[in-house]
Amino acid sequence: MTLPLDLAGLGAGPFNLSIAALIDGLNSRGEAIRSSFFERKPSFSWHPGMLLPDARVQTSYLKDLVTGVAPTNPHSFLNYLVSHKRFYQFLSAELSAVSRAEYANYLKWVSERLPMVQYNTRVQSVDFSEGHFLLHIEGESEPVAAKNICLGTGKSPYVPECARPHMGGNVFHAIGIAQRDFSVEGLRVAVVGGGQTGAEVFQSMMDSHWGAPASVHWVSRRQNFEPLDETPFTNEFFTPQYVDTFFKLPVNAKQNIVASQKLASDGISPDTLKALYQKLYERAITGQTDHLDLRPYRELTGMTYADGHYTLEMMNGLHQQLEKLQVDVVILCTGFESEVPAYLDNLRHRLSLDEDGRFNLTRNFEVVWDGPEANRIFAVNAGRHSHGIAEPQMSLMCWRSASIINTLLGEPVFDLEQSINLVNWGREAQPEVELAFDMAI
Ligand SMILES: Cc1cc2nc3c(=O)[nH]c(=O)nc-3n(C[C@H](O)[C@H](O)[C@H](O)COP(=O)(O)OP(=O)(O)OC[C@H]3O[C@@H](n4cnc5c(N)ncnc54)[C@H](O)[C@@H]3O)c2cc1C
Repeated sequence: MTLPLDLAGLGAGPFNLSIAALIDGLNSRGEAIRSSFFERKPSFSWHPGMLLPDARVQTSYLKDLVTGVAPTNPHSFLNYLVSHKRFYQFLSAELSAVSRAEYANYLKWVSERLPMVQYNTRVQSVDFSEGHFLLHIEGESEPVAAKNICLGTGKSPYVPECARPHMGGNVFHAIGIAQRDFSVEGLRVAVVGGGQTGAEVFQSMMDSHWGAPASVHWVSRRQNFEPLDETPFTNEFFTPQYVDTFFKLPVNAKQNIVASQKLASDGISPDTLKALYQKLYERAITGQTDHLDLRPYRELTGMTYADGHYTLEMMNGLHQQLEKLQVDVVILCTGFESEVPAYLDNLRHRLSLDEDGRFNLTRNFEVVWDGPEANRIFAVNAGRHSHGIAEPQMSLMCWRSASIINTLLGEPVFDLEQSINLVNWGREAQPEVELAFDMAI
């Protein structure tokens, strides 16, 4: 019988790939961790269904899989550039943001160098028995045994309630749009959602990427088409110190804070907004924008289907009036949500979930459960509610990966101490301070 793994990773998106890359660095130093990462796809790809023309990464290329905690690890973006012999040209290009295509290529390059990542291995279910997790892989008769697991299977598309009965055909989430075979030639299209994806889809509609639409209506709940805040003090939210502070806050305060920081993570890249506005202006002066309709501050409240078209009901937040809009196609750029994955159904009753059904996580990204302490369930991209807005982003992914590996090994193999604090976030709240804090929010 094969020895149980020290760690089994479920899914190999960027977040688990970062853990695998750091483990690989340690293994080459002789500090072996027996690990395998199981990915359902036949090879690595990074949101290929959303790789629209000109899409750019919203995070610095230095915040790659490893550099923030292990700059000499060979799986860095800089090593990728050097290995592909384009380091100097990359620097000369002075890109304010790397294209998502190039970054996806970097991630794929790393994935191909990591022997512990396995493809075509979809995890169907997980059991726990006699001190081991047992992973049942589709098409395999024998389960894989592991002492610890790390859940890295990503998020699910979020579909607003009123759109759910209409999903399919001409109403779809943007998740697979770049690989979808469809045409909007001569049709009326609603793009719902005012984040980066909404902006990219709207821009592609303007450029007739899927044929020339009769009209395009871009609907956003936000007050305007709002920029990602990339300024230095906002970037402090994406530091280990801030995550530590945030983690210790009272649970009821966290939700409001996360909501108020939305533009730090979910706004539209300023470059995208500028390019879009300039394109709109140049087309407007030549009369080419009559079919374009930008509607911020509209919350989608209802959707009906009759006589071959969809009627969207929206609340105009500015005028507090209900508006109606008839379209033929609805593209939902409405983001993603976390769910407890179905493959955990057999363990679900043993997991600690909060009142909204989300994992209760420890500071070191362990799901609280009633199993033995020696058997840990880590989860990545699952703790926005507990660890803050950095959690679904790549900014701190390698720091989180290193925290997980340190916890797994029970020693600080990665030195995660930070030496400077530019902002004084205060100390952990005392009861009376906590009360004042709650009232202030
Ligand atoms: C279009 C887009 C652009 C983004 N751009 C940025 C950006 O610029 N900067 C930033 O910081 N963040 C960005 N993000 C957010 C975040 O960094 C990405 O979503 C990132 O891919 C999250 O990584 P992940 O590993 O958690 O999940 P995913 O990338 O979703 O990977 C999960 C993997 O698990 C696999 N899987 C699922 N179920 C199973 C199963 N049962 N068995 C085996 N494998 C399974 C999937 O096939 C998938 O490969 C972006 C997100 C999107 C959607």
